[in-house]
Amino acid sequence: MQKQTLLYTGKAKSVYTTEDADHLILVFRDDASAFNGEKIAQLDRKGKVNNRFNAFIMDKLAQAGIETHFEKLLTPNEVLVKKLDMIPVECVIRNYAAGSLCRRLGVEEGKELTPPTFELFFKDDALGDPMVNESQAIALGWANAEQLEQMKKLTYQVNDVLKALFLDGDMLLVDFKLEFGVFHNRIVLGDEFSPDGCRLWDKNTKKKLDKDRFRQGLGDVVEAYEEVAQRLGIDLSDI
Ligand code: ADP
Ligand code: UDP
Repeated sequence: MQKQTLLYTGKAKSVYTTEDADHLILVFRDDASAFNGEKIAQLDRKGKVNNRFNAFIMDKLAQAGIETHFEKLLTPNEVLVKKLDMIPVECVIRNYAAGSLCRRLGVEEGKELTPPTFELFFKDDALGDPMVNESQAIALGWANAEQLEQMKKLTYQVNDVLKALFLDGDMLLVDFKLEFGVFHNRIVLGDEFSPDGCRLWDKNTKKKLDKDRFRQGLGDVVEAYEEVAQRLGIDLSDI
């Protein structure tokens, strides 16, 4: 499958059409951005590492019965995916308090959240991805009640699968963001799962192994992503 027209250039990936109307090619770039595009940088190897990482996670989720857009890796930084009609809502689950939850509610970072929380954000860069609730998402026509219910159920399922997976590598899955879309009337997991869109801490030292290293200027960003991959048994030796 070949790239045809560039459909969209996002902050970290570029999206191309293919000869098949049901498929797209995503190109993972080395661009990193934070604080709604205020902080940007090029991080050598990030695109390749995240593409390989995402393929591994999507495969684990598929094995657990969760339908994803992933079809196959094409090159070190390109992946073939099903073309989804994306729902402009980000689904976030938190197992421990961090990031915007701490800023918004004055909670101490690291507080365990039982049961895990579920939040929705409107995916809109111009508005800074504001938090929304289900009734707003329905009233504004982004998704219907059944689709939102399904997205929530799937996000909790992903949490169960991945919490256990990361714990096996002595890591805590602190929080993560998912995006879903519609494919032939079914809700399917899209976009990516990588350390760019989740928080992961070493279970014992609480060392940050995710994009907070970039946000907070802690350094060794891609090195930390590679450490996570290595702990999960992902082979990066050929990229
Ligand atoms: P952003 O748009 O937030 O800057 P990216 O740089 O990751 O993010 O861009 C990738 C874009 O592709 C996102 O807008 C995402 O919603 C969209 N996307 C991801 N997977 C699919 C898919 N399977 N079908 C259609 N669009 C997708
Ligand atoms: N997240 C993301 N993209 C976004 C917003 C958040 O991938 O546009 C992820 C983020 O990396 C974290 C989780 O969603 O793992 C929760 O993010 P939070 O609301 O705490 O916002 P942040 O502090 O990252 O701005």
